[in-house]
Amino acid sequence: MTSAPADSSAFAGADAAALLSALPDPAVWVRADGHFALNTAARERLGAVDGLAQNWALLFSVAAAQELRDAVAQALRGKVSCLSVTMPGAVAPALATITPAGPGAALLHFRESHDPLEVALEIMDRMGLGMTVQGADSRILHANTLAPAILGLSPEQLTGRDSLDPRWQAIHPDGSAFPGETHPSLVALHTGQPLLDVPMGVFHPAAGEWRWLTVTAIPRRAPGMNRPQQVTTVFADVTEGHRTREDLRRSEQRFRSLVEATSQIVFSTDAQGHFDGRQPDWEAFTGQSPEEYLAGRGGEAIHPGDLIESARLWREALQSGSVYDTEHRLRRHDGVYVPMRIRAVPVLNEDGGVREWIGSYTDISAVRGAEAALRALNAELEGRVAVRTQELAEVTRFSTLLLTAAGEGVFGLDASGRITFANPAAARLLGYSVERLIGSQQHALIHHSHPDGTPYPLADCPIHQTLRDGQNRRLEHEVLWHATGHAVPVSCVVTPLFSETGAVTGAVLMVQDIAERLRSQSLLQDAIEDLERSNADLEQFAYVASHDLQEPLRTLGSYAELLSRRYGEQLDGRANQYLGFMQDAAGRMRGLIQDLLEFSRVGRAGSAPTPLALSDAVQAVAHSMGAALESGQATLEWDTPHTVLAHAPLIAPLLTNLIGNGLKFTAPGQPARVRVGSRQDGEMVYITVQDNGIGIAHEYQERVFEIFQRLHRREDYAGNGMGLAICRKIVEHHGGTLWLESTPLPDPDHGSTFHFTLPAAPDPRRQDPQQQDSQRQDPSHA
Ligand code: ADP
Repeated sequence: MTSAPADSSAFAGADAAALLSALPDPAVWVRADGHFALNTAARERLGAVDGLAQNWALLFSVAAAQELRDAVAQALRGKVSCLSVTMPGAVAPALATITPAGPGAALLHFRESHDPLEVALEIMDRMGLGMTVQGADSRILHANTLAPAILGLSPEQLTGRDSLDPRWQAIHPDGSAFPGETHPSLVALHTGQPLLDVPMGVFHPAAGEWRWLTVTAIPRRAPGMNRPQQVTTVFADVTEGHRTREDLRRSEQRFRSLVEATSQIVFSTDAQGHFDGRQPDWEAFTGQSPEEYLAGRGGEAIHPGDLIESARLWREALQSGSVYDTEHRLRRHDGVYVPMRIRAVPVLNEDGGVREWIGSYTDISAVRGAEAALRALNAELEGRVAVRTQELAEVTRFSTLLLTAAGEGVFGLDASGRITFANPAAARLLGYSVERLIGSQQHALIHHSHPDGTPYPLADCPIHQTLRDGQNRRLEHEVLWHATGHAVPVSCVVTPLFSETGAVTGAVLMVQDIAERLRSQSLLQDAIEDLERSNADLEQFAYVASHDLQEPLRTLGSYAELLSRRYGEQLDGRANQYLGFMQDAAGRMRGLIQDLLEFSRVGRAGSAPTPLALSDAVQAVAHSMGAALESGQATLEWDTPHTVLAHAPLIAPLLTNLIGNGLKFTAPGQPARVRVGSRQDGEMVYITVQDNGIGIAHEYQERVFEIFQRLHRREDYAGNGMGLAICRKIVEHHGGTLWLESTPLPDPDHGSTFHFTLPAAPDPRRQDPQQQDSQRQDPSHA
């Protein structure tokens, strides 16, 4: 089979002569001068050779010839006519159509009674085209001889196949699938519109390759029907053309991408710097035609912004014969300016003159890109630095404000001990201006001497020590020297500053004026001493007074007793009663004095505290209270497994007083029950003495600890109100505290709990690990 021209439609290549010769009907071309030509069919049918017969009319019967001559004459005047003529050897008349065929010529066409479809199929075969006729269901009803050949199928395979048959495997030029329902024949059937020159790839099973077709589909309507009943499809194999085009396109692309990939343009010029001859690289890259660049318009491809400088350098190179080396932007064929580096070197003649120049362009857009990226990065970094600087400035401003406002003196020192910073408080403290301080050696200016005036060697200075060893230091009693020459007592904190590598670069010295603190401390000390003195005086007085009072009181009591014993019978009842009152009072006074004496004795220098098992102490108290407890009216329980560190002679009265009160202040009709407990918390033992007595109203719960404070009449409950005062003094003397919780009557839960703390005896387990086991087995230590 032959192929149609690559870019034509199925019909475009067929000219009138070809069509005529392909026509299965006889046709005769006649000129006014009598010259004539026959097509193939006419030659076969009429058996004549062109031009040999002088008269074309002789080919026909006389009758027909006459009619035809008239018709030709008409056609030569431009008129078409149809005749019914009998062809030689034929029975049925043929239809002759005589038409004008150009100036001074006419065409005689004879249509014998042929099936028009057959005619068409035959024409297509002769024109090298495939043709099929498909029915309404798109099944192929007829195909010309070439159709199966073009499609690589047998006529049997082709006939009956419809457009939707999956075996077609058609594709579009871009390689995408060309589904059956979009085939031109089917579309024409459905829409009733012809589709012209549709490119389509089909797999040619016989050749085992893809073939490219251009397909034209023309719907055929039966007279009076709206929908087409058939579709005629004509197709040409254009594979060769397609291939050539595709190859061209590919090689051009390859070439172009090669140029773009290397972006290397090699060029040559004559000694004067003009392009000599064609420059394929230059052409390919810039898209300039030889006419353009050979006419000296090559520079038009250089970016206007770079042109003047490049031209100047080029002139210089040409004049001096030195290497031309520059950069400029060169316009690519697509209009994009590409940054290029250009180097051109002179090629010398034997005589040393320049013969020509050879140069190259190198695309440096990648370099430029990297540079741009670097620049962008730099800009971003700078931006970040700016932001950071701004932040730092803010922080600095804030810290400066803070330092300025601070009441403490703050010095910045460099590694050599020079003052690099001082805040107003520091300047104020030492009587210097900030300006005077900054730049001075700290030690020499303000730290040169000890408080007693003796020189303070730099080697001993703890601030400088920090500059050497990078340690933080807190200095409690330093002295800095005021501008006027007096010592300023200070406490300082020295904080080292480090470089990124860890070297000490300086220190910050925070200085607090402790003159005021020292002054108030000494005032406080004085006050304490005064108080202690007066306390001691008072205690001395109480002691002396109570001690000295005892003697006359004893005398008074003794004589009252003597009087009562010796002369009681001589005195009347009233005198005896008075004497009894006197003796009572003397006894009470003795008790008061003893209590007072006891109170004042608490805390007087005595023996050191010793470990004391609480259980033993409570046990002893219980023993001394035997009578009260044995009566069965009262109970005392204790669970006190702890050991305290205490003065044993003081713990006895403490417990006696508290337990005694618990047994004494009983609620009417309720037997007293007192419980003593203890628990340890850290270094202190918490002891509670709990009773079920009358309780103490909230408003008196503090007052009961004052001396001589009682809440009841002596007739109701004995006592002189010293007990709790003595107890609190004893507890506080041990470093503990005493307080109470109480719910008074008539609350059914009435009763009081006295709490006090005493230092725990050091844990023997910690001192002697070997004792651990035995101690652990002792449930009292659990
Ligand atoms: P007194 O020698 O009178 O007992 P205290 O100083 O021991 O003096 O007690 C002061 C007062 O506190 C007592 O008079 C009593 O009113 C009240 N008081 C002390 N302990 C108790 C207690 N356990 N229950 C109720 N009241 C108490």
